[in-house]
Amino acid sequence: MDLGLQGRVAVVAAASRGLGRATAERLAQEGMNVAICARNTELLQRAAEEIQNATGAEVLAVPADVSNPEDVRRLIAETRERFGRLDVLVTNAGGPPPGNFFDVSDGQWEAAFRLTLMSVVWLCREAVPLMKEQRWGRIVNITSVSVKQPLDNLLLSNSLRLAVIGLAKSLARELAPYNITVNSVCPGPIATERMEQLLQAQAQMRGITPEEAKAAWTREIPLGRLGQPQELADAIAFLASENAAFITGSALQVDGGMVKFVL
Ligand code: NAD
Repeated sequence: MDLGLQGRVAVVAAASRGLGRATAERLAQEGMNVAICARNTELLQRAAEEIQNATGAEVLAVPADVSNPEDVRRLIAETRERFGRLDVLVTNAGGPPPGNFFDVSDGQWEAAFRLTLMSVVWLCREAVPLMKEQRWGRIVNITSVSVKQPLDNLLLSNSLRLAVIGLAKSLARELAPYNITVNSVCPGPIATERMEQLLQAQAQMRGITPEEAKAAWTREIPLGRLGQPQELADAIAFLASENAAFITGSALQVDGGMVKFVL
């Protein structure tokens, strides 16, 4: 299927590894020029070179912390300067730390608020004016299955990601007249470094090994395995495509059937 993305421009936030990195590579495979960011310059630069070598696409690496609005402004400004347009925005960030209600401090709540919710606000605030000028745009937010079914010991994620869904649903209505769609993907357990860290934390908390923690997750997934980053990237590429023009305000699970709710 030709996704109609050839020659268009994407920004993928938090993309030196994991889900963001896989998404940037997938969009580059479609012939897009891609800008990526992360805080660590060396890792980011390496990811950009690898994606460029694998796909032949032009990849711009902008060191930036998405929980800092000045960095976000620079990311979008440098993208515009380099490529002259912006068609697809994939919002993403590191996950907030694990913990239950009495484990997390006010400082952690405030940091998670900036990282998980305000990063999406700031990215959209900078990107949408460019998309409005073009009267074409796709925004895809990477969230989590926790927006549909809370995950144990992930209180900050369970709470703040729901605000991203509320924001996306509202923006979808507000931006529809400009032919800009806003959707979210809700990954279940996918094999990345973040997942490794969660398995370690769970193993420690429950007095089991990380392998046993992984087996417990896997039992919750009808397809019987963790997902691979490129499987989420495929879903994002579709939502970013010309073909998905009539889909907006949706929150798509990519979870191997893990979430049990009906609607
Ligand atoms: P990861 O830790 O493997 O990668 C995170 C990426 O974000 C890295 O490139 C890192 O450098 C970058 N990053 C972190 N904080 C940043 C910041 N403040 N500014 C800029 N870049 C930053 O994580 P992942 O597994 O790829 O997950 C990505 C997001 O999806 C996270 O929010 C995670 O909680 C969520 N998620 C992941 C899974 C999963 O199973 N992997 C499931 C549900 C939700």
